[in-house]
Amino acid sequence: MPLASIVRLRGKWLSENPIHARTGWAFMAFIDINGVSKVYQTRREPVTALTPIDLHIEEGEFVSIVGPSGCGKSTLMLMVAGLLETSGGSISIGGKPVVAPQTDIGIVFQSPVLVDWRSVLGNVLLQVELRGMQSKQYEAEARKLLKSVGLEGFEDRHPFELSGGMQQRTSICRALVHNPPLLLMDEPFGALDALTREQIRVDIERLWMQTKKTVLFVTHSIAESIQLSDRVVVMGPRPGYIEKILTIDLPRPRLVSMRESSKYLQYQH
Ligand code: ADP
Repeated sequence: MPLASIVRLRGKWLSENPIHARTGWAFMAFIDINGVSKVYQTRREPVTALTPIDLHIEEGEFVSIVGPSGCGKSTLMLMVAGLLETSGGSISIGGKPVVAPQTDIGIVFQSPVLVDWRSVLGNVLLQVELRGMQSKQYEAEARKLLKSVGLEGFEDRHPFELSGGMQQRTSICRALVHNPPLLLMDEPFGALDALTREQIRVDIERLWMQTKKTVLFVTHSIAESIQLSDRVVVMGPRPGYIEKILTIDLPRPRLVSMRESSKYLQYQH
């Protein structure tokens, strides 16, 4: 790797970025999405899911992507995770181009996808076991995470003994147990009732405030995106594009009462 190929500088990444190759060294954000587009090749006709988009996310930022169904939110997230190839443009995380499935990330999907025959603790530790790491070394962290989301005392239960909200909390702990710098969440509250959604939102904000991970959060809920995010990326309908990026300047933790503030209502509007 060339000298200081990746140098962390005041929260920015100075790196050799092919996009900026002509201009030499360039400042980069932690997640750098440059001119990224996606066309799905189907048997009938190509489907343009995303027109070229640019998005730059700083380390420790909580960024939501909100938009109507089919505007390409999940497509974008899967490309950031390296689980789907881009059709154009480039993505880098921490100065490194995303060219394969990323291992140093945590992902939470709408469905918790837990293994029924494993305990709650066993499900969380599955993350480290699948990575060939020693689960014993991560047990204390797993228990700490479970406690922080209100699952202390449930470590030995099995998924079928838990409510939907508890299952999703378990999957959030599983996504974080190996301490990844980046957490990707795709509609994580989608299958939950309103009250549970609200409680998990509070848990996620608290966890984020403690850990300051970079979070990319996909949702179709305007309210949730405002309550959780530093910035909200508003996407327009297919073929997806970025319509607007809002910086949410509200104090944390964001209490339910804040929804009546004029600033909150302005963002919502
Ligand atoms: P969102 O997450 O915003 O609901 P998606 O990223 O899932 O949107 O999908 C964006 C568009 O791409 C949609 O029109 C969808 O039908 C299309 N699409 C998604 N996956 C595929 C695929 N594998 N093949 C063809 N089209 C797809």
